[in-house]
Amino acid sequence: QKSQKNILITGGAGFIGSHVVRRFVTAYSNYRIFNLDTLTYAGNLENLKDVEQASNYSFVKGDIVDADFVNNIFSQNTFDGVVHLAAESHVDRSITDPLSFVRTNVLGTVNLLNASLQIAKDNPDFLFYHISTDEVYGSLGKDGFFTEKTAYDPHSPYSASKASSDHFVRAYGETYGLPFVISNCSNNYGPNQFPEKLIPLFINNIIQNKALPVYGDGNYTRDWLFVKDHAKAIDLVFHEGINGETYNIGGFNEWKNIDLTHLLCRLMDKKLGRKEGTSKELISFVKDRPGHDLRYAIDATKINKELGWSPSVTFEEGLEKTIDWYFENQEWLDHVTSGDYLDYYKKQYQA
Ligand code: NAD
Repeated sequence: QKSQKNILITGGAGFIGSHVVRRFVTAYSNYRIFNLDTLTYAGNLENLKDVEQASNYSFVKGDIVDADFVNNIFSQNTFDGVVHLAAESHVDRSITDPLSFVRTNVLGTVNLLNASLQIAKDNPDFLFYHISTDEVYGSLGKDGFFTEKTAYDPHSPYSASKASSDHFVRAYGETYGLPFVISNCSNNYGPNQFPEKLIPLFINNIIQNKALPVYGDGNYTRDWLFVKDHAKAIDLVFHEGINGETYNIGGFNEWKNIDLTHLLCRLMDKKLGRKEGTSKELISFVKDRPGHDLRYAIDATKINKELGWSPSVTFEEGLEKTIDWYFENQEWLDHVTSGDYLDYYKKQYQA
């Protein structure tokens, strides 16, 4: 008989969180999953339609910045673990509104840590798991990889806020003995991603025959990972990760933005039955993002060797699955791109 556990997942209505919630709800019937999310522009319960009726799933609407609310939730439910994904996650938004990133990513995380201390006192098996980004490591030149030992060197308000929250998690481990793990992952893509991020933005724009805004000269390089492979890694780290350890997660899949855009255009031409080269004509180079990091690349050897994780799909397979999903879920796209997002998009790209 597997033991019953109460697991709190924060940010479960967002892109990555929804895949983590679905995975935990369906794979672990002995877990009761609490999804805590305040439903910002990026949070969408439509992402979880297929699991919302599950008997081991509950949604709790609330803001992690509100310490009283957080303490209340923790006093009403004895959690055995926290998987913390709730965050402001978009670099461009962090440049226009850094404080909201400090509030959610730093203060919100510390509120969860404080509440966790109370529970961890009486539960030696408690674990606080912080989901973080490779952007905390700063930027690489042409060579080299980020490892778990790379010194932090964040460049954007977003990465500074995530670096800060990582530091707080480790400090709570050192100072108060709170059991924790952290993972730092590269760029995710896949179903349910809000269309302000590159891949869904470009899929959506190609469908609508709108320009594809590529920053600078398009030579920025990122490592890309299919979101379900990230969720699989999160599941492993949560269950097998060692207290106090950090795990880097990445796809060993580096792409220059411009090459990725060309690949996407080719796959979209195929999907739309258009002549190859049609979508490429939509590419438009736009003014660079300030403080833009040239290259991120993750060395995921540790999680591969120690926990046996590796990505399950190639980039092309993952992209095709993603494109299919956006085609089959036009209604989702219409809902999330109405209202506030349109105003933001117009300001951002002067469209
Ligand atoms: P997202 O923006 O899609 O989702 C964030 C979720 O958090 C949303 O549902 C939102 O409503 C919720 N949220 C925001 N502020 C909140 C608050 N104050 N209280 C409660 N809920 C709040 O983000 P994502 O891309 O799914 O990223 C999830 C996590 O993974 C983040 O911590 C991010 O830093 C990290 N991460 C993301 C990537 C990536 O490529 N997207 C890569 C590595 C790490």
